[in-house]
Amino acid sequence: MDRANSLDRALRERARAVIPGGMYGHQSVGLLPDDYPQFFAKAEGAHIWDVDGNRYLDLMCAYGPNLFGYANPEIDAAYVRQLSLSDTLTGPTELMVRLAEELTAMVTHAAWAMFCKNGTDATSMALVTARAHTRRKTIIRARGAYHGAAPWCTPRPAGTIDTDRAHQLFCDYNDVASLEDAVARAGGDLAAIFAAPFKHDAFIDQAAPDPAYARRARELCDQTGALLIVDDVRAGLRMARDCSWSLLGIEPDLSTWGKCIANGHPISALLGSEKARTAAASIYVTGSFWFQAAPMAAALETLRLVRDTDYLERIMALGDRLAGGLVERAAAAGFGLRCSGPTQMPLYLFDDDPDLRKGFCFVSQMLARGVYMHPWHNMFLCAAMTATDIDQALEAAEGAFAVLKREAAGLAPVEKLAFLSAGQR
Ligand code: PMP
Repeated sequence: MDRANSLDRALRERARAVIPGGMYGHQSVGLLPDDYPQFFAKAEGAHIWDVDGNRYLDLMCAYGPNLFGYANPEIDAAYVRQLSLSDTLTGPTELMVRLAEELTAMVTHAAWAMFCKNGTDATSMALVTARAHTRRKTIIRARGAYHGAAPWCTPRPAGTIDTDRAHQLFCDYNDVASLEDAVARAGGDLAAIFAAPFKHDAFIDQAAPDPAYARRARELCDQTGALLIVDDVRAGLRMARDCSWSLLGIEPDLSTWGKCIANGHPISALLGSEKARTAAASIYVTGSFWFQAAPMAAALETLRLVRDTDYLERIMALGDRLAGGLVERAAAAGFGLRCSGPTQMPLYLFDDDPDLRKGFCFVSQMLARGVYMHPWHNMFLCAAMTATDIDQALEAAEGAFAVLKREAAGLAPVEKLAFLSAGQR
């Protein structure tokens, strides 16, 4: 796609002058193909429009928050209704209590809820709660797992100091021996084990949680008095109408939620079991916007749709349809394409593509055909997608695979991903 004279390019130019680096964090398009737009103008249902008016089926769903469709009429009506009554004010509204009641009724392990804004707020509160509960320091988390962008967990340490990340030990996800080893190394100082609900690291195949790993994490916490934390910020409500590890019969002490719990309106949550209540009441956490009523109204409406609709079964069926269709079309064009993770949160990687040059070419071709995909991060399906959307994406994929087949032998390395070939993948 020629963007040389596009509004997107012009905005990037202007952004470079007034926004450090022109963009930051996960929304930075620095590690995406050059033809990807950075700026968007509107969204509706399963589609987004970039500032140049191009429409895409959005398989990123805002990196998760879009679960029931952008501008969902029921959720946004609840939001707007509340906005006209109150939003940020001197104290919370009754919606805070109702939302805590509904979440604790829905999530098996949860006896209480606390609300905040971003996933990082929730994971940081989980960390502090576990340390307050145990009066110990050490936490264990899996290498490569993302838990947010605070100094204790940011994947890019610029500006942080070693002590921000002190008292953390790392294990390998799904590797019971490495988890046991980390617990042993913690000695008597283990405060918490953090767990992603499944392995959803970037750049590498995703993996379902091994039930033996989840069980062992629970046992080790029980034996040591540490708290088990499931970070459901990304996967929450896309795996189950409960904490994602409920599917394994494992109940954590704390779980963290965000992204889609209000379908894109800003609210996140820390949920906890009875055991952790006193500690949670003892920590000082707050924010000017944490008691906003309108996102709580949106969350209540989102939870109603979670309870009352077959959204989960539908996004799983759509995910299967996309995965089956893409893998089959890739094979027909002579490519091995792997879909890893749950198909409603899929990551697609090509075989024999260590520096992702095939992946980059393929997603660029999909973008040109109106489908926004990601070459190295898991994607998300939403309940506003239809079988027709998926079939159109599959039709686009036929064209994209055909171009890839023609160009595969001559593809240049993706320079911006050189670090992958250096073995960091
Ligand atoms: N935990 C997980 C598993 C996440 O995927 C994310 C965000 N991608 C976070 C925590 C942090 O959430 P936020 O970006 O809302 O701070």
